[in-house]
Amino acid sequence: MSMRRRTLLKVIVLGDSGVGKTSLMNRYVNNKFSQQYKATIGADFVTKELQIDDRLVTLQIWDTAGQERFQSLGVAFYRGADCCVLVYDVNFIKSFDSLDNWHEEFLKQANPPDPEAFPFILLGNKIDIDGGNSRVVSEKKAREWCAAKGRMPYFETSAKEDYNVDSGFLSIAKLALAKEREQDIYFEGIPEAVSETGQGGGCAC
Ligand code: GDP
Ligand code: MG
Repeated sequence: MSMRRRTLLKVIVLGDSGVGKTSLMNRYVNNKFSQQYKATIGADFVTKELQIDDRLVTLQIWDTAGQERFQSLGVAFYRGADCCVLVYDVNFIKSFDSLDNWHEEFLKQANPPDPEAFPFILLGNKIDIDGGNSRVVSEKKAREWCAAKGRMPYFETSAKEDYNVDSGFLSIAKLALAKEREQDIYFEGIPEAVSETGQGGGCAC
């Protein structure tokens, strides 16, 4: 097979305000962490290059600018998303309870052709806090939620301690790439002649 082209994947990160979405991205892309609360990093998206098997992949990761508080993220945010990272804070039950809403909202706004097979991943963040003593959502409960959503992968993370952040994003990239490959195979299977329809049934020579 010929050399693979670079693949661009649009990743969007969703979850309640304050769960650590911006921090996870900042850790993943810049390997930095800040205690200070910043509602936004000021850009629509950041990018990260990855090599997965024979492919060069550019992840274009979209962050909210704090509008998630009003659930009004606008169409441009969701448009053309290849995968979605859902985030909650293991120490904060409300952020876990909101996951159903975020999942539904994504499917409604992005409207992917095959919602059941769309690549999602769940990150349970801030597991470092109080050595895990203040957590209110167990790993078991989170995994059950994921299972009910069709075997969504789950990672427990800490943006602060740099725990599982790379693994989480790598997993979503692989998932989205696998989905793209399925589509490639599908399109490669369509005969070329389809695009060469003659006018009014006349000779195409
Ligand atoms: P966002 O609103 O979801 O983007 O959340 P932010 O990334 O702005 O994070 C909100 C607050 O939580 C900030 O003060 C961060 O420093 C803090 N934070 C984010 N991730 C972690 C983490 O893994 N551990 C701890 N202890 N604090 C975190
Ligand atoms: Mg943020």
